[in-house]
Amino acid sequence: MIELDTDLLVIGAGAAGLVTALSARERRVCLLYAAGTASELAQGGIAAAVGDDDTPALHAEDTRVAGHSTNDDRAVRFACESAPAAIAWLESLGLRFARDGAAWSLHLEAAHSRARVLHAGGDATGAAIMRTLRREVADAPHIELLPRLRAHALLRGPGGVNGVTAISVDGAPVNVRARDVVLATGGLGALYSRTTNPPVACGDGLAMALAAGARVDALAAVQFHPTALDVAASPLPLISEALRGAGARLIDDGGRPIMAGVHPLGDLAPRDVVAGVVHAEQVAGRRVWLDATNLRVGDVAQSFPSASRQCRDHGIDPQRAPIPVTCAAHYHMGGIAVDLDGRTSLPHLWAVGEVACTGLHGANRLASNSLLEAVVFGQRMGEALARLRGGPSARARPAPAAADDDGRVDQELRELMWRCLGPARSAATLKEGLASLAARRAPSAQAPAARWLLVEAMLRAGLAATTSDRTRPRIPSSTRWDRAAIPRSHPCR
Ligand SMILES: Cc1cc2nc3c(=O)[nH]c(=O)nc-3n(C[C@H](O)[C@H](O)[C@H](O)COP(=O)(O)OP(=O)(O)OC[C@H]3O[C@@H](n4cnc5c(N)ncnc54)[C@H](O)[C@@H]3O)c2cc1C
Repeated sequence: MIELDTDLLVIGAGAAGLVTALSARERRVCLLYAAGTASELAQGGIAAAVGDDDTPALHAEDTRVAGHSTNDDRAVRFACESAPAAIAWLESLGLRFARDGAAWSLHLEAAHSRARVLHAGGDATGAAIMRTLRREVADAPHIELLPRLRAHALLRGPGGVNGVTAISVDGAPVNVRARDVVLATGGLGALYSRTTNPPVACGDGLAMALAAGARVDALAAVQFHPTALDVAASPLPLISEALRGAGARLIDDGGRPIMAGVHPLGDLAPRDVVAGVVHAEQVAGRRVWLDATNLRVGDVAQSFPSASRQCRDHGIDPQRAPIPVTCAAHYHMGGIAVDLDGRTSLPHLWAVGEVACTGLHGANRLASNSLLEAVVFGQRMGEALARLRGGPSARARPAPAAADDDGRVDQELRELMWRCLGPARSAATLKEGLASLAARRAPSAQAPAARWLLVEAMLRAGLAATTSDRTRPRIPSSTRWDRAAIPRSHPCR
């Protein structure tokens, strides 16, 4: 067993982990991470009210409407008001967001009442942000890197969480002790058989925190993206919502627009609404297509190079033929319950980014608000941690349960998640999920791995939510939609 000691341990090197590490300059930071991030896959961009016709208050209002008003107001205000400064900070690090002449080039995405999504590197914004942050981290003398390690259990001492036990790619166990531990391990889409998330996004950080007794929130609130490319691949390539913002339309086998008459925002209705309609079409045995053939020749390839390349890799020319799409698990709104600084309910354990639940997104994330969340909450947490005095950690012992060591999620479990806690969940499917879980666990008398605890907790939370209707994806009808909730200035009004 390799034993290491540090002051501040940040687990995860996506946007949230990197920004936290950079912002905690006064601390000695150790950044431990496995391979792969969702951050570098982000295409659409990052939302900020920087346009002349826009304000943080409008951004906040759109965030609340998309989240069905179940958001935490303070988190919404903080994120939307901090967004313009976050863009300026990223540019101060050398990142260049796209402009039309002297003005920002701003894109419209679902449920935004203004074009406010900034792109960098075409539709490879996440990759551009990650390149910039990684360069800064490489130059930061206070940060030490521990790559190719998979954390699988938190260590606890008398004063709270004080480290992690991890395993290297060649199987060597490593204990890292720290005075403060930050979980920045991302989401859990890879627990589902259909997902846009990389394999590493399988909820390890959340599972570890749950096993250690941390408070969690909105566990069943999973967002399904309506337009993953419907091909035999895992993860499924994402076809950015910005294509619909530019005029592409969702159609059925017969070429009929599937969002017509369903919602006043049509193809740009909130994600849960569009995903519900796409899934209903699929359950009825029909395929769904994204028709971008009406866009100007060259527009798709130039403005959406990643989406265009992914289509061509699968033999599809989006300029000539509709793109086959499916919904897929995409983002987890729930997570480890934290305050605005990222403190969890366990002493010395902090969480940030997709693994945390600040309440920013409510029941449904507004598109392009999660890179923003990673940056603004990462900065805020890093600064809060910097204000605390660092020091040596106390003696550690492992928390009771560990995530599965090899990090792989078995296919049967992924199918179960899609069937029972997917876009068409119901009390019956959730009960079926709990029963199959119990049956699968019965033959082994061993303590359950943390991932099983997490899946069980998610199914139970889903069951509880079917009665409250707060985290259930909706199959919408225009009569159920509260038109008054759409900002007066929105183009559809
Ligand atoms: C295809 C796709 C497109 C997206 N597009 C957009 C978009 O346009 N705009 C937007 O705002 N959001 C978008 N999102 C969502 C957004 O990318 C994520 O929510 C956000 O990047 C999460 O950042 P994070 O730092 O919390 O997690 P991640 O970027 O996923 O980073 C997690 C880190 O934790 C590490 N890790 C995980 N488990 C362990 C473990 N057990 N041990 C050690 N390390 C571990 C990983 O290796 C990684 O370094 C998209 C997501 C996907 C999948």
